[in-house]
Amino acid sequence: MEFNLDNFKVQGVKVNYYYICKRKLWLYSKGITMEQNSDRVMIGKLVHENSYKRLKKKEVLIDDMLKIDILDNDYVREVKISSKMTKADKMQLMYYLYYLDSLGIKKKGLINYVKEKRQEEIELTDEYKREIEKTLIDIKEISQKRKPPELVKLPYCTKCAYYEFCFVKEEV
Ligand code: SF4
Repeated sequence: MEFNLDNFKVQGVKVNYYYICKRKLWLYSKGITMEQNSDRVMIGKLVHENSYKRLKKKEVLIDDMLKIDILDNDYVREVKISSKMTKADKMQLMYYLYYLDSLGIKKKGLINYVKEKRQEEIELTDEYKREIEKTLIDIKEISQKRKPPELVKLPYCTKCAYYEFCFVKEEV
């Protein structure tokens, strides 16, 4: 069956959360946001705003949903603090490349890990296209569920903006 992106479009952050924690994705998709309380998110925003000021960068808003930094016409760039969530960051950028590809725009991706002063180039392959499609189908399914996925403690839960929400009962 032909995959129709129009039925599955989501913000890039949901693709990122899908690879971090399905419960986080569900909470966010239900409009339960606690990210404004998170220092990490605040730091991430500051890093993004202050990075690569000297470079020729163009911020593009697509479908009022994806805000993408296009660089030098060839690359879409994402700036991340560190590479702790490599797969999630990579797939978020892969989704941007996929989205642009569906509009007939071919780009490569560059992720800059600020702490490690390292960058990674990524390219959209057919295999990644299929993975993104499967991910988007799963995201829709998870978002439509009435209850959040079971709580599973993950190594980075204490750094998550939803930590208190998820673990408050354990502390009483
Ligand atoms: S605290 Fe842990 S389980 Fe809860 S949303 Fe965050 S990562 Fe997921």
